Amino acid sequence: MTPTRRAALKLLGAGAVAVSTRAWAQAAPPLLMDGHVHAINRVYWEQADLWQDVPDVGWDFKRARSAGVNCVIDNLGTYGYWNYNYTPKQALRLLETANRYAEQHADKMAIATTSAQARQIVASGRMAVFLGSESGWDHEGDLDVLGAFYRLGLRTIQFASQSGYNNFADSALAMSQGGQSPDHFHGITDRGRALVAEMNRLGILIDITHGTETVHKQLIEASRTPVVASHETIRAVSGVGISDETIKALAAKGGLVGIHSSAQVVSKRFRQWMVEHKEQVAAANKDVANMLGYEPSFPRKPGDHGEYVERFDKEFREAWLSRAKWKEIPELVPLIPTADEWAQHVDHVIKLVGADNVAIGLDMAGGRSSVPRNPAGYGEIVAALNRITTPANVKKITGENWFRVLDAAKA
Ligand SMILES: [Zn+2]
Repeated sequence: MTPTRRAALKLLGAGAVAVSTRAWAQAAPPLLMDGHVHAINRVYWEQADLWQDVPDVGWDFKRARSAGVNCVIDNLGTYGYWNYNYTPKQALRLLETANRYAEQHADKMAIATTSAQARQIVASGRMAVFLGSESGWDHEGDLDVLGAFYRLGLRTIQFASQSGYNNFADSALAMSQGGQSPDHFHGITDRGRALVAEMNRLGILIDITHGTETVHKQLIEASRTPVVASHETIRAVSGVGISDETIKALAAKGGLVGIHSSAQVVSKRFRQWMVEHKEQVAAANKDVANMLGYEPSFPRKPGDHGEYVERFDKEFREAWLSRAKWKEIPELVPLIPTADEWAQHVDHVIKLVGADNVAIGLDMAGGRSSVPRNPAGYGEIVAALNRITTPANVKKITGENWFRVLDAAKA
């Protein structure tokens, strides 16, 4: 146990209620926060205990904690559940799983809904987990459903979905969903604007990732509070990701960009190989693509009383589990970018707008080469950050910036 951890636990033993905020602050270790991970999806579909050794097909608490991570935003992903009202159902299942899992492991983690809570959890030596939603909470954008999710602990929402366009925003990934137009609405709709206002009022942080460039621009303009791009790369560095113009607009309103870990978006060289070997890459990524783009292979019949969703769950679980069959293409291994190449994205943002507007958002997933290679490697990127900027800036980038935007999300 580290001295800080021992001090924090001693404080807990002395009675958390009596402990002043200053004492907590003194005991708290520095933050190491990743603002975009996917843990609870794995708990739900794989029934995995991510505090134990688990197959190396994505993010887990055990290795991340061993590498010093003490705060995350977990992105509940509804993926295949994007037809009619199955999205809120799946989002609720994942929310319930997150809360139950945190209760079962209350000695190691807790759900946070404010930065003050998160600081207390971190100071007690545990992992603080904020809950976010990616790829849909209700594709119709119902304001009451939104309010209910807020009450249940949801604090960030990725506005544009990966599952094509929804009732309120275009998606940059629409083409991968049966060839939908990425510019169906030319941005966000009136419903989208109503949602922005309600998210601002409630205090739900708006994530612009996976929106089109027009969606990015319109969300930044419409929101009264800072917005984030939680897991992106910098176009000026690797040729894909968020533009300098968007970064400037985002930063002018106090937002941030979290830097992604995937080799194919971090490194030009890696992606070039992929472009030159399209068939080989498509074959290797087939199972992951099938999971993300899953649609039930059968219709829901009138008079159904649960048979449909049972079959739907079974089919999707198979799609989820088969993503673990992914194997690295051997020729690509030497091309995986280094932590210093990852840090070039951070460096670009610092030079463009300053160190207040960049953070960690690795989106580490099974079935994808990434930097670091797995959750045990956070130390590599922290070391790389220390090579490009000051200790004060590293502190912001490794957590304080995320806390600032979470606090500022309420108008
Ligand atoms: Zn994503």
